[in-house]
Amino acid sequence: MHGEELPRARRRAIPLPPSFLDFLEHLYYTFLMNELLTRTICIKLDVAGHEVALAETQRRFNEAASWIATVCWDEHITNSNTAHHRVYGQTRSRFGLGAQLAVCARAKAMEAIKAVRRQEAEKMVRWRKANARRKSKGKKPVPPPEPAACPQFGPRASLRYDARTYRLLPLSRVSLNTMQGRVTARLLPGGRQHDMLCETAWKIGGAELVWRNGTYFLHITQTQEAPDVTPAEEAIGVDLGIVNIASDSTGEQFTGAEVLLIRSRFVARRAALQRVGTRSAKRRLKQLSGRERRYMKHVNHKIAKTLVHKAVVSRKALALEDLTGLREEVTVRREHRYERHSWAFFQLRLFLAYKAAWAGVPVRLVDPAFTSQTCSVCGHCERANRQSQSSFQCKQCGFCCHADYNAAMNISLVASQAANGSAGTSAATSPRL
Ligand SMILES: [Zn+2]
Repeated sequence: MHGEELPRARRRAIPLPPSFLDFLEHLYYTFLMNELLTRTICIKLDVAGHEVALAETQRRFNEAASWIATVCWDEHITNSNTAHHRVYGQTRSRFGLGAQLAVCARAKAMEAIKAVRRQEAEKMVRWRKANARRKSKGKKPVPPPEPAACPQFGPRASLRYDARTYRLLPLSRVSLNTMQGRVTARLLPGGRQHDMLCETAWKIGGAELVWRNGTYFLHITQTQEAPDVTPAEEAIGVDLGIVNIASDSTGEQFTGAEVLLIRSRFVARRAALQRVGTRSAKRRLKQLSGRERRYMKHVNHKIAKTLVHKAVVSRKALALEDLTGLREEVTVRREHRYERHSWAFFQLRLFLAYKAAWAGVPVRLVDPAFTSQTCSVCGHCERANRQSQSSFQCKQCGFCCHADYNAAMNISLVASQAANGSAGTSAATSPRL
């Protein structure tokens, strides 16, 4: 039955669009780890007079980090203590870095290696799963993924600062460690960034000095302990889509009509500018893509806020489809293919997850199989139940409603059942998105 009901398989790995990588790189809020909430404030810097010192430090720092990464990669060093003893002396003598910057370079290199190794391990898991499935269907196995390469950093890659290598000073100034000693730059925070800096509930941690198109930014990390998760039996199911950005099991829909209209305008303007192709047109293109991204971010923030608020008020959990590994190998419904690979879709999930964590709302992830074809009233599952993108009509009991609402109801039901049936199995407090 499975073979017939699922749409035709397409297992081509779809490369991530650059905008998604861009989004990840400049992720405003990073995700929670060890019950700690983390957020990053990106503040523009006025480094007047210190460009040369900073650029030189940046270059040396990243050369050192690349060298450290190569050494640790080749010698399979994963313990930071071991790494420290192996590379510290040479980092200082070969690259001329001060003691603290040498420590930061090692930290950056080790973290990058860890991230690459983790991605590699996840890829292997997905590859094994995919091959097991192919084998059960009598198909030929696919070759294993390419082994990962050792991470390297360009001369303009970010410069890591820890609590000892930078210091926030009064009057919006910051003191930064460079190879020519400490320099003082001026922070140019906006109103909101200023408020975030002043919130005492958030502890200020390390920072990254980021260079982008001739401007320096300081990305300051703040942490706070996550509130305890409020236990909840029932869950509000949320179905994410493109026609309706989100539909929840209480019947509310966040329509994507306005978003689609605005984005189509962006697409048209982009196409026109691409035809022009002059340098100023290219500059306009860049501005435009920034504006589109910011617009989508705003929309996603608003939706996530509304949904989390609803969960808080009704003392329920939030339930989403579990998309772990979906991107690379699982069949994706044709009409969902675009949205599931768009960064905006992942951004909304991310926003939902961290806003929920801030509010102590549990997030549950449920198996996405058949949520769109199963009747939420009688449980009958048939592909023909879903008549079109928007309408659902059960072939067995005749229940009829919006298809996204039906899917959200199913997500809610599955999540609530899991919570009541087997304690703790699905109550993921730090979901992997
Ligand atoms: Zn039914």
